[in-house]
Amino acid sequence: MPHGSTNISTDTIEDRLAAVRSAISGAAHKAHRAPADVALIAVSKTFDTVDIRPALDAGQRVFGENRVQEAQGKWPELRASYPDLKLHLIGPLQSNKAADAVALFDAVHTIDRPKIAKAIADEMAKQKRHLDLFVQVNTGEEPQKAGVMPADAKAFVAMCRDELRMTIAGLMCIPPVDEEPAVHFAFLAKLAGELGLQNLSMGMSGDYETAIAFGATHVRVGSAIFGSR
Ligand SMILES: *Cc1c(COP(=O)(O)O)cnc(C)c1O
Repeated sequence: MPHGSTNISTDTIEDRLAAVRSAISGAAHKAHRAPADVALIAVSKTFDTVDIRPALDAGQRVFGENRVQEAQGKWPELRASYPDLKLHLIGPLQSNKAADAVALFDAVHTIDRPKIAKAIADEMAKQKRHLDLFVQVNTGEEPQKAGVMPADAKAFVAMCRDELRMTIAGLMCIPPVDEEPAVHFAFLAKLAGELGLQNLSMGMSGDYETAIAFGATHVRVGSAIFGSR
């Protein structure tokens, strides 16, 4: 650190990434969990490859994007340099993009209706690829938000398992902005437990430490690493 500089630790993507990793470890220890049991998904939506490369150079290998088309524009090039990186789709998916999504992504967090579930299942079979699949639950029952309604979640997961023969990795939620996220994280964790699901995709820049306290296995952190969008 140059002499006399202050607060430099949050200046670069590398530094912010290190700070987030350290906060994840701290939150995990506090919850008596192993830090390695919490995967950091660095959400790089709207950021260009010049911003993403420093994160890759710093060892980050799991990234999240919310649009298939945007991801197609930047990730093939990055994957050529870093073949071991993993890409998670965290935004809503249209069934006409299912083939592209299955070809590009390693995980989808937004399975929330039979048509999408079926399109993804069909494409995985066709492309002989396995993706980790999360069912998004609209825990706040917000009309404008994607996700299966809480009351329908069990039947939907059962349909994915029994009719489509899908392996569901876990549940995902995005709490309403104006509500206490802990309530939603606790709800999602309870629901996952009842369904025998191991993974919880929950927690963003503002609340990932809380999410870890409630059992998050995948935190989706964007602006705390890459800056504001
Ligand atoms: C953008 C986004 C994130 C990351 O949000 P930040 O507040 O920037 O950390 C997480 N999850 C989803 C679904 C997103 O769309």
